[in-house]
Amino acid sequence: MPKLPNLLFAVSEAHPLIKTGGLADVAYSLTAALKPHVHEVRLVLPAYRAALAQAGHLEPIATLHVAGPDAPVRILEGDIPGSGVKVWLVDAPFYFDRDGGPYSDTHGADWPDNAARFAVFARAIVEIACGRAGISWRPDVVHCNDWQTGLVPALLALEPVRPATVFTLHNLAYQGLFDVDVFQALALPAALWAPEALEFHGRVSFLKGGLIFADRLTTVSPTYAKEIQTPAFGYGLEGLLAHRARHLTGILNGADYGVWDPAHDPLIAQHYGPHTLHLKAVNKDVLQRQLGLPQISDAPLLGLIGRLVEQKGIDLLLAALPALLKHPLQIALLGSGEKHIEQALLNAAVRHPRQIAVHIGYSEELAHRIEAGADMFLMPSRFEPCGLNQLYSLRYGTVPIVRRTGGLADSVTDTNAAHLKAGTATGFVFDDATPAALLHTLERALALFRQPAHWRKVMACGMQQDFSWHRNARAYLELYREAQAERAATPAA
Ligand code: ADP
Repeated sequence: MPKLPNLLFAVSEAHPLIKTGGLADVAYSLTAALKPHVHEVRLVLPAYRAALAQAGHLEPIATLHVAGPDAPVRILEGDIPGSGVKVWLVDAPFYFDRDGGPYSDTHGADWPDNAARFAVFARAIVEIACGRAGISWRPDVVHCNDWQTGLVPALLALEPVRPATVFTLHNLAYQGLFDVDVFQALALPAALWAPEALEFHGRVSFLKGGLIFADRLTTVSPTYAKEIQTPAFGYGLEGLLAHRARHLTGILNGADYGVWDPAHDPLIAQHYGPHTLHLKAVNKDVLQRQLGLPQISDAPLLGLIGRLVEQKGIDLLLAALPALLKHPLQIALLGSGEKHIEQALLNAAVRHPRQIAVHIGYSEELAHRIEAGADMFLMPSRFEPCGLNQLYSLRYGTVPIVRRTGGLADSVTDTNAAHLKAGTATGFVFDDATPAALLHTLERALALFRQPAHWRKVMACGMQQDFSWHRNARAYLELYREAQAERAATPAA
């Protein structure tokens, strides 16, 4: 049996240093869950301005030269606040020390030099992985995530001696596709310009670097692992993914109950649990007050939190609204994203101030308060690789209403008569991505809400589900061992 691996976890965002979505939560909680099971873990992240501000004490541990930046790149070592996992920030100030987000500027436009930024990040990781960074620590496994780290397995594949590589696909909709001149400008090795390498219909795809060259591929739910091998979800990469099916595993993300549990959540007004369900009402009352909604305790309150992009199916909700609002219900919505979706939601809130409250922006605190205060949680996603909010909602007794896709299909059990009788129902699930299907399912949920004994049963069953990371972290460990064993058996290239 190979020794426990040293793990280098490469990712473009990590809670609480920098976060745009679920990836940051996964980076935080998966590395924390893996820490006791591997020899040592290091999380490597670009030294964004925002991350530097959050990171606390940092110590420069290495200076290296990579193609691209004029100045040397520094590696700064610190700890992830909360988990204590060691973090290495790749400090290339010209690329990362700016206001704005990790991928886009303060107006939401992609940074025009994203290819160069994440090429520098990848090259620094490769130097560390191959022991050329002047750091004595070497990884046995490099676990990469999404297109921002896609060049890492591709560049490592050209190295005679290298660690094993695992690539996790969190969302196939984001591929890091750039024009062909970027390939030349970045001086990427010519061997990588081929359809069986980074080329994708005349452009360069960072994502393909991971999909083709990583020793093992994972995605974040078993259902999404199957979906992406079909044309409806594969963005033209379904053939490649089917070809790699033997090395592709779907491992459901976990929820971090250290952060998301109503029994000890410091951000909510009233703690509660499966045996003190009645106390949840206090959070509803506080949320209604905070959002300026009338304090009607028996009006069902629907929550929705997320990136306001087409993927999330907000258009289905908008189209269903006129019929939906005939019911005496309220909606609390938190999110940011595409301007036209934000505006449509704000308009709806202006037209129906007694029923809809919309908060555009990002607020960790309000997200927790919505989870705690709402009765139901809406996720009408067109596709959802895993989704985290439905896992949090289950824990908070906030009954999720979801489309049967990706991780939503793998984590929510529909409340039909059989599941209700068997005591396994945890939410409401619909199939078609249409306003009518959403409305029909919401009306099923509203009908059950009027039967408190049944409703409480569904809440309690959801709260008892265990989607913690422990089991799933073991699945990653198995994969690391497999990749490591295979690497050890492969002669140097
Ligand atoms: P995705 O990764 O596609 O954005 P997930 O459901 O996997 O979707 O994860 C989203 C995470 O980001 C959740 O933790 C959610 O609460 C959080 N989140 C998204 N938008 C906001 C927001 N506007 N304010 C606070 N948290 C948000």
